[in-house]
This record gives sequence, structure tokens and C-alpha cells, in this order.
Amino acid sequence: MSEQTIVTPPPKPAPVAKAKKKPKELAVVNQSGCTGCEVCVEFCPVDCILLIGGDPLQPQKKLVEIDLDICIGCKLCAKYCPWETIAMLPNEEAYISAASGWTEKTVLAEREWMANADAIIGEELIPALLTKPISAQ
Ligand code: SF4
Ligand code: SF4
Repeated sequence: MSEQTIVTPPPKPAPVAKAKKKPKELAVVNQSGCTGCEVCVEFCPVDCILLIGGDPLQPQKKLVEIDLDICIGCKLCAKYCPWETIAMLPNEEAYISAASGWTEKTVLAEREWMANADAIIGEELIPALLTKPISAQ
């Protein structure tokens, strides 16, 4: 009886992901004007608008945040937001705006910092943090 050699197939190469074409514009929520009504969530065709909460100063209030990596720039949310608090911004500008003051993550970080700094600087600066400028609409 001859000895059999077991030949294992070579590993398959990892699938190459097709480069996604970047939308020219992306949606960014100015959360200072968001009421959490969820109208935009209903219209988004790719489900990239997330309802978030957890603001320690207003735990009952929900806000939305847009996952810019999924947004296809269709503009429906901006068109139908009753409070006109969603702006369509050029792709890179959207990431900068979302990261620099328009997102709840940033708001929460600021408020957490304020809560910790309360004893030192008092409470008068908190209202100023709650009022954010709408600069890119
Ligand atoms: S439609 Fe406008 S106000 Fe309503 S949840 Fe969306 S961004 Fe906020
Ligand atoms: S622009 Fe379109 S894809 Fe992007 S968040 Fe708004 S509805 Fe969703």
C-alpha cells in the first residue's frame, strides 16, 4: 500500500474591499438645536442617524448623531428636519465640525469637565457651554 500525501489548499487571499466613493457633502447635526424628534431618523435611507442620550444635565432629552462613515450625503435629513438643525457640509469639513463642537460626545466631555471644575470656577460658565453657535448653516 502506497503512502498518501494530504495536500491542503493554499489560504484564500483576503477579499479586497472596493474603495467607497466619498460623498461630496455629509450631514452634521448641530445638537444645540436638536429636539430629538426623530424625523431625520425616519428619512435616512442608510440608518446612520443614531438616537443618543445620557446628557447628565438633561437625562430625559434625546439627541441624534450622524455616523459620517455611513452617511451617503442624500440630504433628506437636512431637508426634513423641522428645526433646520442639520447642515450639509463638505466632506472633510463635516468631520472637523462633528469633532469640534457639534457632537454630543464633545458636549458631554465639556460638561464632564465643567462638573469636575465646578468647585474652582463656579457654575456661571455652564450656560455658556449649553449655547453653541450655529456657524455653518
Ligand atoms: S429631525 Fe432635527 S430636531 Fe429632529 S431629531 Fe433630527 S436633527 Fe434633531
Ligand atoms: S444625508 Fe442622507 S444618508 Fe446622510 S444622514 Fe442624512 S438622510 Fe442619512
